[in-house]
Amino acid sequence: MKRFLSQLTQLQELYFAQSEQQSLGLDARSEEIEKSIQELIENLPPEMSSLCQRLRKRDLTVIVPVIHGVCSACGVALPTSQTYEIETSEKIYQCPSCSRILYSQRGAPRQIKSVGPIGRPRSGVARFSSQSLMIPDLKAGTRDSVLSELVHLMANEGFVENPEGLLKAALKREAIMATAVNHGLAFPHVRGVEGGGLTFSLGLNREGLDFGAPDGGLTHIIFFIVIPSAASAFYLQLLSGLIEAFQDEEARKRLLACETPEQVWESLTGTCQKIIP
Ligand SMILES: [Zn+2]
Repeated sequence: MKRFLSQLTQLQELYFAQSEQQSLGLDARSEEIEKSIQELIENLPPEMSSLCQRLRKRDLTVIVPVIHGVCSACGVALPTSQTYEIETSEKIYQCPSCSRILYSQRGAPRQIKSVGPIGRPRSGVARFSSQSLMIPDLKAGTRDSVLSELVHLMANEGFVENPEGLLKAALKREAIMATAVNHGLAFPHVRGVEGGGLTFSLGLNREGLDFGAPDGGLTHIIFFIVIPSAASAFYLQLLSGLIEAFQDEEARKRLLACETPEQVWESLTGTCQKIIP
């Protein structure tokens, strides 16, 4: 059953990746993803594949973790006996309220702190990050080490625990489909990281890195995002807002000229002000 749950998680990632590519107008990539979706579906037992396709029609979030006995998508509390059965994962369990497929998240990376409205109320992109999560000049020189640097910063700043588990999940996601888009931007992410809100760290690399961008270009601006299940729709909005903001070459130049976390934070929030409300 663990194998099927892992395939279902992979399928969900493909659903989201496809929706991202469609919103970017990258139809060729979207068709490529559709092929991978079909292949995965054919390898699932028929009752699982039809359940997935039914759930997908309503919402792209088809499989979510159970946290402290609660469905992380709709928040309904599950009976203790069912939580136990989900942990042993002998069959597919669905949430009695939202019908999504449930899995146990024991040992998975969790958020321990939210950006949250501490002090003055935050708005715009500032709701999702903090000055302490900005890296003006990444030390790392490869995709994997950049991910490690961004993940560890988030852990060192107390936002997440289990950075090694989080890094592993980020690399697994990257292996399904590159998260780089055009214009030197990349959005590596991990879904199902519960306990806080949608949170990202941002790293800059002036020379550029190979992140597998569709236009074959180098990647300079990397947003690493952790996404709780209930914030999946928000994530797509944040992603399209950030892409819109940094499609502008001048905006990218301003960001890449920053030398301190403070400057990066100011440039980021300033550029996104009108686009992300
Ligand atoms: Zn639910």
